[in-house]
Amino acid sequence: MTRFADFHARSIHDRDAFWAEQAQRVDWKVPPQQICDYSHPPFAKWFVGGETNLCHNAVDRHLQDRAEQAALIFVSTETDQEKTYTYRELHAEVQRMAAILQDLGVVKGDRVLIYMPMIAEAAFAMLACVRLGAIHSVVFGGFASHSLASRIEDASPKVIISADAGSRGGKAVAYKPLLDEGIRLSAHKPDKVLMVDRHLVAFTPVAGRDVDYASARAQHMDTIVPCVWVESTHPSYTLYTSGTTGKPKGVQRDTGGYTVALASSIPLIYQSQPGDTFFCTSDIGWVVGHSYIIYAPLIGGMATIMYEGLPTRPDGGIWWSLVEKYKVNVMFSAPTAIRVLKKQDPALLSKYDLSSLKALFLAGEPLDEPTAKWISEGLNGKAIIDNYWQTETGWPILTICNGVEKAPSKFGSPGKAVYGYNVKLVDDQTGEELTGANQKGVLTIEGPLPPGNLQTIWRDDQRFVNTYWKTVPGKLVYSTFDWAVRDEDGYFFILGRTDDVINVAGHRLGTREIEESISSHPNIAEVAVVGVADQLKGQVAMAFAIVKDSSGLLDAASRLKLEGEVMKVVDSQLGAVARPSRVLFVSALPKTRSGKLLRRAIQAVAEGRDPGDLTTMDDPAALQQIVDLIQI
Ligand code: AMP
Repeated sequence: MTRFADFHARSIHDRDAFWAEQAQRVDWKVPPQQICDYSHPPFAKWFVGGETNLCHNAVDRHLQDRAEQAALIFVSTETDQEKTYTYRELHAEVQRMAAILQDLGVVKGDRVLIYMPMIAEAAFAMLACVRLGAIHSVVFGGFASHSLASRIEDASPKVIISADAGSRGGKAVAYKPLLDEGIRLSAHKPDKVLMVDRHLVAFTPVAGRDVDYASARAQHMDTIVPCVWVESTHPSYTLYTSGTTGKPKGVQRDTGGYTVALASSIPLIYQSQPGDTFFCTSDIGWVVGHSYIIYAPLIGGMATIMYEGLPTRPDGGIWWSLVEKYKVNVMFSAPTAIRVLKKQDPALLSKYDLSSLKALFLAGEPLDEPTAKWISEGLNGKAIIDNYWQTETGWPILTICNGVEKAPSKFGSPGKAVYGYNVKLVDDQTGEELTGANQKGVLTIEGPLPPGNLQTIWRDDQRFVNTYWKTVPGKLVYSTFDWAVRDEDGYFFILGRTDDVINVAGHRLGTREIEESISSHPNIAEVAVVGVADQLKGQVAMAFAIVKDSSGLLDAASRLKLEGEVMKVVDSQLGAVARPSRVLFVSALPKTRSGKLLRRAIQAVAEGRDPGDLTTMDDPAALQQIVDLIQI
């Protein structure tokens, strides 16, 4: 057995002893009494009886050894700001933010929704919440009012923290009007809204509700706010993710398990150590941003770079210039970003001193071979490591754990099952485990899910069970909803989703959510949204819609006008990330005789592929219309 195979086997077969060791990487106020309580499958409770605090582990515990070391390096090429916070300074800022939240009535268990751009205050806000035992729910700044409203309603936050605006390509993007509209649309209203005023756009505060951050902070320059020790199973945050229904799911994470999982990943997966500099280019609105911009690097005593801006502005060398300037040791990004950089001048890669960089990790979507090869060559053969994970898991399911044992990567494969994950490929029809090489099956995980994974869906245990654990016949296993194969060496290859979820530039979007938004346009009767392969973004959404009144749609110009209107509806309700690349108008949609939309067939023809078996189709002319439209 290789060292890694042995390590992995121990994590499954000697689970409690394995995780008890990993738990020593973390400070506990009260040590755990039981490592894993799996007496009520599929609900796993990790480090039961233990008391800890995520903010203590990320910030306070480092004061002893590294108070003057950089902790948070904020860089904005949007507003030309650059500021390094040492651990001591970060500690002070987090306490100020925590003191403000306390003034606003926030106590342990309260929810705080964070709708912010990539600014240092967003990191203070997240850390301040977990310091108090409050449960944060970060909503990606690119989401618009309807996406916000559904999340506000589900999380029912006492306080929302926001800012006047984000910025993209040097242009301010106002957040406040979207937030006000989101609150108006939501049945739940927060008591207070804490506003960070960046002075990018003017806004009118809502009297009695909106609180100015700068003034509130000035009252608390020296306030001491101790960490609130919470049970290991106390939720640290919820993060909403799309699924097959229109209603996003609030992925709920614990405290102790998450802290231990991240603490273990730093040496074992990311091969990093205290004092290193970590640069994750994601956004705090996504799970990768939670885990690898904020929590893991800080838990690991590293400096973390928080970057607001495009990868191509002022030019495509900006990220590499930051690697040189801050001596970045580990970078974490997404294949889409690398595909964007691939279009830039290749000389930009050799212009900077990248000798500090050990590895580049990529996650969120399949890493195609040309992209992997291009960046690997550009970085002079530095390790390029694919990570496969989900919002639900909080850290990688599949990768190469070079910190356990060095192993080669294979193009197109994220690698092997990470320690703690009992991954099984199963037949979707029979539920039978597929153990042979190169057999295609659904990638599942046998319970208990390892530490750091979702505990449940916020306020909906039943949905957690039904969504993830009831899809494989005769077995209680967690479904990732991804097809995969495993080769003879145990390397997995991800083949795509089993459901109607699409992945645009590494962001998961539910086609149903986009359909619901498009349907709210007064002239849309019915619509089908599918994901279509795209060279840059991996996939893009494409919509096929039936209009109620087609009398005004006789020429191309009027169709284009309606297409633009529909896109605007999606922009204003869900955000530009969800905007379909095209909205094409048809008189019928391909369905089965029982009325079920034939999405796979639509997707196939939209990608110029053979739609396969169509014997159940009601009206073949409906599909032909799509074929004809695509060919135009
Ligand atoms: P999200 O929860 O938004 O991060 O989306 C998770 C989904 O993205 C997974 O279920 C996969 O479909 C896809 N995904 C994430 N990472 C990878 C990867 N490294 N290779 C292939 N697909 C990936």
